Amino acid sequence: MAAIGIKDSLKSQGVRLTRQREILLELIDKSGKHLDAETLFELAQKQDPKLNRVTVYRTLKMLKESGLVDELDLMHMGGDQHYYETRLKQEHAHVICLRCGKVEEFFGEPLQKLRRQVEQHFGFQIMLARTEIGGYCAHCQVLREQEVEAAAALPPTTTAKRRSATAAVAK
Ligand SMILES: [Zn+2]
Ligand SMILES: [Zn+2]
Repeated sequence: MAAIGIKDSLKSQGVRLTRQREILLELIDKSGKHLDAETLFELAQKQDPKLNRVTVYRTLKMLKESGLVDELDLMHMGGDQHYYETRLKQEHAHVICLRCGKVEEFFGEPLQKLRRQVEQHFGFQIMLARTEIGGYCAHCQVLREQEVEAAAALPPTTTAKRRSATAAVAK
């Protein structure tokens, strides 16, 4: 079981599993998603109302430093936000849609192959590898095509108005 794996690896590193560490590790491990620090703080507080933001952020930093969780920026789709996921998961690449922000995980042999090639080529000992791929998901490709067509169909003045309207909405 994953939870036991975490506890064992903590023990082997001489890290004491405090209550806040246990809560956060379990949240990250069980969610299977990529949660940001603020969401983790809210979830953790539901389990222990005494937990404050500073403790949660400090604990995340510690978990990252001891190699138990991975910190991701996911192409900065959410601004400066960082996301956390367990290191117990098999290595995978993150495939991020630059329009809707959907994140898919790609698991597969090519990643292990790349790792082996880099290690052999540089005589390198890889401790951590992070692969992010940005682009447009199938759904957004269709929408983008429609947007381009719609923009092209409008007379130039209307397009300019439309653009400024979009810019206003974006603010
Ligand atoms: Zn998309
Ligand atoms: Zn992931």
